[in-house]
Amino acid sequence: MKVFIRTYGCQMNERDSEALAAKLLQAGHTLAASEEEADALLFNTCSVRDAAERKAKGKISHMHKLKKRNPDLIIGVAGCMAQRLGDRLLEELPDVDFVLGTGQLHTVCDILAEIEAERKRIVSTEESFDVLTEMGAHLATGSWHGEIAITRGCNRFCSYCIVPYVRGREISRDKEDILREAREMVGRGVREILLLGQNVAAYGLGGNTNPPEPGNSPFGELIEALNEIPELRRIRFTSPYVSYFNDRLIRALKDSPKCCRNIHLPLQSGSNRILKAMNRQYTRESYLDKVAELRAALPGVTFSTDVIVGFPGEDDDDFKLTRDVMNEVGFEQSFIFKYSPRPGARSAALEDSVPDAIKEERNQILLGDLRDRVRKKLARLVGSTVEVLAEGVSARNAERWVGRTDTNYVVHFPPVPGVRPGDLVKVRIEQSNVVSVVGKIV
Ligand code: SF4
Repeated sequence: MKVFIRTYGCQMNERDSEALAAKLLQAGHTLAASEEEADALLFNTCSVRDAAERKAKGKISHMHKLKKRNPDLIIGVAGCMAQRLGDRLLEELPDVDFVLGTGQLHTVCDILAEIEAERKRIVSTEESFDVLTEMGAHLATGSWHGEIAITRGCNRFCSYCIVPYVRGREISRDKEDILREAREMVGRGVREILLLGQNVAAYGLGGNTNPPEPGNSPFGELIEALNEIPELRRIRFTSPYVSYFNDRLIRALKDSPKCCRNIHLPLQSGSNRILKAMNRQYTRESYLDKVAELRAALPGVTFSTDVIVGFPGEDDDDFKLTRDVMNEVGFEQSFIFKYSPRPGARSAALEDSVPDAIKEERNQILLGDLRDRVRKKLARLVGSTVEVLAEGVSARNAERWVGRTDTNYVVHFPPVPGVRPGDLVKVRIEQSNVVSVVGKIV
């Protein structure tokens, strides 16, 4: 069967789609290049934001004309939205043949086979603990970059978030299994591995909702073990919860030079009042202390973050506190979201009190700060020589290659014979732009 997969949402979803593709290829299916030539369409959806859910539903309902032309076309919906809405999706989108919850992705081939045989509708949203190992098979891309989901689900229950409900409770993959997959990837040419999870730093803690005691960080131990893989050049991870950076994890980061000096550290708000309403279990002070601790241990480290503007009850003072923290940390990258209530999340019971125009205004203010800050930081790189992991030809300029520093700055440079994607090269920076710098290999 020719299957076309369309992915919405986060890197976890991208990763799940790769694993779905690998599963399908292993079972003898092929991947279709377009929806038009497919026998089956698989929409791997995201439910975390309202906009993503609406986009996916809109796209799926547009498939009606394809289904009319080919009544045998199978349409499946997987991922968070499928988990959240279950069989309600079948009522809402009558062209959909099956719905596959986040814990059941590994059953995709069985379901396609059943539908092909019986053309019946199936709903499967039961969580499975086998899923992480079953999904371990990774698409052999031959690429320099690989991704490994090390945890799935989340136990933190931030009040605005539905991940604990749609992705289920936190489970961690077996360490040896992760290391085996990492070695296999590196054997195929992968040079950078991105570890994925809703809260990667909770890895191996058995779902304990309290941050680990000092001296205990299975996630830190995992990073140290990955750091020993000879041909691996870089390790990245996303996302960690700030309270899980204890002494053991920070020591592991310090002692693992392959672990990139760039940390995504979701802030969400700089106001203690709003953090409490979000059920985020840290304060602006403890967040800033952790940033200072990380900076002291990892000189030159850069940070990115997630922030929500317009959470119910956020007033001008709360927003100012958020803006101040963002400027104080000086994030290199920020993902700023305008609050929208998600059905099922606890905050949906609160009045969505901040008008859209104010949310947009706050969004633009933070974006403006970010642009100014990044431009200045990039300008400071001019004249320095940085180590860059070469990624390949730039999508914007075919005469240049693109790569990143371990601090995650984007660097463009003219290619040099012999340099391949995944190689580390030294680049002398000659010019800075709005979001990247340009230099020459030295
Ligand atoms: S830590 Fe909070 S925001 Fe992140 S996935 Fe878990 S519940 Fe959602």
